[in-house]
Amino acid sequence: ATRRIQRHTVVLERRLESSHTEVSKLRNHLEQVRRDAMTDALTNLANRKAFDEKLDTICADHDEHGGTVSLAIIDIDMFKRFNDTWGHQTGDQVLRYVASAISRIAQMPRVAARYGGEEFAIVFPGETASQVEHVLETLRSDIASRALRRRSTNDDLGVVTISAGVAHRHKNESPLQLMERADAALYVSKRAGRNRISSAQNILSETAA
Ligand code: C2E
Repeated sequence: ATRRIQRHTVVLERRLESSHTEVSKLRNHLEQVRRDAMTDALTNLANRKAFDEKLDTICADHDEHGGTVSLAIIDIDMFKRFNDTWGHQTGDQVLRYVASAISRIAQMPRVAARYGGEEFAIVFPGETASQVEHVLETLRSDIASRALRRRSTNDDLGVVTISAGVAHRHKNESPLQLMERADAALYVSKRAGRNRISSAQNILSETAA
């Protein structure tokens, strides 16, 4: 009887071990699915859903603890023209090129995302307005510093440029209002001829003047 119980125990131990392995595999898989749901597959940046959640958390933290928060919205200039002229595959490469430059400057605690088709967003917690604007200016000139080539034909794609709008958050301002101000600043950059950064502060002072 003792031997039978011993054998039975060994079998149960093996089953338990294999269940542990299975649970750990499922946990890893779940983690991967969760990561995929928050990531833009083409650029590997966060997607809009992940960004909106982060922005909410960062704004709530700003209301509670003070400090600074800035938000930049970035748009690739004349992107539709790239797609129409060179095709979607080349358009995708342009998106990856811009995303790669953005991710180089978007280390923690900054958060960057592909926000829409050719639109990106970066939130900067804890940095002064002039630091943020300096970083964006560096990003703009970095992206515009290279001419891209179409890989399949080696055609010269020319220079890719971005326009951006940045807004520095007022305490208790909703994430949506902050977005709207950054968007309005982006519109100013576009109207002023593209390939530039505009700040919502400047828009306010321009309007006041
Ligand atoms: P990717 O093709 O996966 O390249 C990733 C990184 O590998 C590039 O980052 C760059 O650091 C390096 N790399 C790849 N190919 C070359 C090359 O021929 N010469 C040099 N010097 N480095 C190379 P990077 O530059 O930030 O680009 C990120 C993504 O942007 C690339 O991903 C690609 O999808 C796109 N991209 C960049 N430049 C071009 C270009 O001239 N033409 C096209 N079609 N796509 C480009």
